[in-house]
Amino acid sequence: MYPKSIRDLIDCFKYLPGIGDKSAERMTFSMLNLPAEKINEFINTITNIRDNVKKCEICGNLCEDNICNICSNLSRNKKIIFVVEKAKDIYLFEKLGIYNGVYHVLDGLISPIDGIHPEDLKINELKERIKNDNVEEIILALKPSIEGETTMQYLKKILSDFNVKISKIATGVPLGMDMEYIDTLTLELALEERKDI
Ligand SMILES: [Zn+2]
Repeated sequence: MYPKSIRDLIDCFKYLPGIGDKSAERMTFSMLNLPAEKINEFINTITNIRDNVKKCEICGNLCEDNICNICSNLSRNKKIIFVVEKAKDIYLFEKLGIYNGVYHVLDGLISPIDGIHPEDLKINELKERIKNDNVEEIILALKPSIEGETTMQYLKKILSDFNVKISKIATGVPLGMDMEYIDTLTLELALEERKDI
């Protein structure tokens, strides 16, 4: 068996998604061969994301200040909110470079089976923004799964009290597929062909 320090690092790598025993071992042994300054760079970078990455107080995007660079950008249209499941999805749509509104991260999808209910998501925060910023349009970009559909139907119902247009991105997006595996062209079309719900 490997010495404990090596086993510990292998176990740490296995916390990451998609990393099994073999990859974790390979990464650990590569790390043993790195010069001390590269190891220090790893340590500092990991400490840095732990200490300095926070969630934007407005939209939930990742940032190093209290407000993210999209919310603080005066040229972004605050009347259109793109609703996504997780912060990482924002980067997919930003890469397309065709959207000039702002975002709202729900921090999950409704899934009673997993014990995730509407009150666990950032839905009240979304309602507050719609009210305070006189938002005109909400675009739902949630993954096409049972949880995504349930969440969209719920949002449609509770947002009907507001005078806001609600659309969802067109589903050229395959059922059950995570947004991050969808190619940019499909996403771009999905956004252009959004439909009222
Ligand atoms: Zn923000």
